[in-house]
Amino acid sequence: MRIAMLSVHSSPLARLGGKEAGGMNVYVRELARELGQRGIGVDIFTRRQDRTTPTVLPLGRGVRLISLHAGPAAPYDKNLLLTYLPEFVSRVRCFADSEDVSYDLIHSHYWLSGEAALRLRRVWRAPVVQMFHTLGAMKNSVARSEEEVETKRRIAIERRLLREVDVVVAATPLDRAQMVWHYGADANRIRVIPCGVDLRRFQPGDRMQARAALGIAPDAIMLVCVGRMEPLKGMDALIRAAARLLAQHPDWKERLQVVLVGGEDETQPDRWNSEQRRLDALRHELGLPAHVIFAGAQPQDRLPLYYTAADVVAAPSHYESFGLAALEALACGAAVVASNVGGLALTIEDRRSGLLVPPDDDAALADQIERILTDAALAARLRSGAVQRAAEYGWPAIARRIAALYDELTAANAAIWSARRLVRVS
Ligand code: UDP
Repeated sequence: MRIAMLSVHSSPLARLGGKEAGGMNVYVRELARELGQRGIGVDIFTRRQDRTTPTVLPLGRGVRLISLHAGPAAPYDKNLLLTYLPEFVSRVRCFADSEDVSYDLIHSHYWLSGEAALRLRRVWRAPVVQMFHTLGAMKNSVARSEEEVETKRRIAIERRLLREVDVVVAATPLDRAQMVWHYGADANRIRVIPCGVDLRRFQPGDRMQARAALGIAPDAIMLVCVGRMEPLKGMDALIRAAARLLAQHPDWKERLQVVLVGGEDETQPDRWNSEQRRLDALRHELGLPAHVIFAGAQPQDRLPLYYTAADVVAAPSHYESFGLAALEALACGAAVVASNVGGLALTIEDRRSGLLVPPDDDAALADQIERILTDAALAARLRSGAVQRAAEYGWPAIARRIAALYDELTAANAAIWSARRLVRVS
């Protein structure tokens, strides 16, 4: 079986933790690798963002990353990509023709790739599996500024994809329900298959060793949050919660450290985006410039150090369709406090594998962090519950479910086309 995986606007090899690269990129990379291991050929098509990237890059057994032009070979606003999508689609077709390959199934990621998938389906007569990763309507329901509002065009395309693709994969039952509520989607066309986590990379380690590697004092009270610098991630609530904790525990003043992983680090203020500048202003306003540290985006293989070193990992997002960083933290045996929203509310079982709080409620966040910091037995219980929970999300099990879906759809598609041939002959 050969799969065309479309990740048009963002490459699975993009630097994670920046503006446009996060969970979806990790998902595409990990799923493709796992499928490749299972003997399924995967070509991942993405748009070329610089001139130095080779057209074909092998990513492991059976997996290739194909980077093709769609407009300028430079970063640009993803909404502009719609203009260049016809160019991208015809380049994909030319690539496939030049190699004399066709694909049994198209697996598209994000609404922009879905639009390309519908066009390619006509050429290859292949079924389309769509994943949104985030939904425009959900982002809009928590948006606080014009800058955060997604376009009507995006919502319209998402609605059309929900009607026209063969199957949509939702990461959680809630994700599926949101597609039904906000877009009037038919629930029968949506399968729920969660995201996976690399349990070899993310596993419990030695806290003191991790702290030594990061240069964090053994007696520091370390709160960590990992995510792109976007208002949606709610990092401001964590900074406010830290201020509350210090007001209640003045003796923690020398020890408390809030480490924000993502965006740019302290040495690159000219590259901070508007959200990071807002967080910077907030830490100054609350008198915490030395307590809140911008660690910058980190390569994923360094993240286990942060999750392991932390006393608490916070995931204070306003919305997460799944929430991979929180799952990675669980896998490392972190004590996690997360917003009671989206995928976070389903992955984390409150008081068993983490603590859940209402979103954007820094008082509740501070209370639950304090509980963990002052109750060693609770912290130990949550840490062991977290590891147990994460074990359910290993990639081999998740990829098996995706591969079974591919089998089902390709078999049904083959039956449809052979029936059509018979009708034509008779
Ligand atoms: N990530 C990373 N380095 C960073 C920040 C994030 O490797 O500095 C990765 C993280 O490991 C996770 C993904 O980016 O796999 C973020 O996924 P999540 O679902 O938490 O958020 P999203 O970016 O999809 O909103």
